[in-house]
Amino acid sequence: MYDNNNIFAKIIDGKIPCKKIYEDDDTLFFEDINPVSKVHILGIPKVKCVDFSDFVTNYSQDVVSNFFQKVDEVIVKLGIRESGYRIISNSGVDGGQEVPHFHIHILGGETIGAKIR
Ligand code: 5GP
Repeated sequence: MYDNNNIFAKIIDGKIPCKKIYEDDDTLFFEDINPVSKVHILGIPKVKCVDFSDFVTNYSQDVVSNFFQKVDEVIVKLGIRESGYRIISNSGVDGGQEVPHFHIHILGGETIGAKIR
């Protein structure tokens, strides 16, 4: 069940500010408030989905494909396409998910090594 009051829903609605990297009608990318690497961006689709499985199961291929295309465009925009990066999506209790709105972490700008979210 999607929680309409989760932090990222409030960020999408503009009720909580964020440092935006890219936004369009369907997606939003912004800086993580507690970065674990020099580049640490969160990417979210503007749909009510709890996690990765919810997103790919319950939304159309167009919506899913468009989101991941935007992830790649943001990676290029961030200038980390060539140097490398890590994308992560935590899900559920064992995945360590804190915010119950599907999101992708984009980590880069330095060697990530064993550092994970
Ligand atoms: P999760 O553990 O759910 O995969 O990651 C949630 C992420 O959201 C964490 O890295 C955390 O730092 C970030 N975060 C939590 N609250 C806020 C907020 O209000 N603003 C921003 N920009 N990031 C947040």
